[in-house]
Amino acid sequence: MPLIIDALDFARHAGAHHGKIALSEFERLHDYLAANSGELQYAVTGALDKDARPALQITVRGAITLRCQRCLGELEHKLDLSTVLRLAKNEHELARLDDHESVECILAARDTDVLMLIEDEILLSLPSSPRHNEGECSIAGLEGRGIAREKPLAALAGLKKLH
Ligand SMILES: [Zn+2]
Repeated sequence: MPLIIDALDFARHAGAHHGKIALSEFERLHDYLAANSGELQYAVTGALDKDARPALQITVRGAITLRCQRCLGELEHKLDLSTVLRLAKNEHELARLDDHESVECILAARDTDVLMLIEDEILLSLPSSPRHNEGECSIAGLEGRGIAREKPLAALAGLKKLH
């Protein structure tokens, strides 16, 4: 179900939406997920900052399942994102803001797709090479890929023999 807002109007009138979205709604995210079930909580609020400049704040919380790049096992990844997006009224302003502002800026549209913004934020936050912590990989997965477990003691014993 799409959630479309007039971004500038939403910010000026301090609009607020929150709810839950099924992970299956995020088509671009699917390539990164080991499982598409579950849902995320989101909130989008509009506001003017202290200089009366319009912005949207987006928060996303929940857990997704990525695939570990070392053992190919499932890897739970918690999301707890909060981003402020400054709204630019036109391309000219967007170019100027991108040069001078440290916050993210987007072009304000009358038909801003909130779910797309949320999906963008999730994609930007993903680790480029997700992995389990050291020692938490699935051993079956590692052996299946021909990656031997490290044997530091055996290696050390080998070194001693050389001397
Ligand atoms: Zn792993």
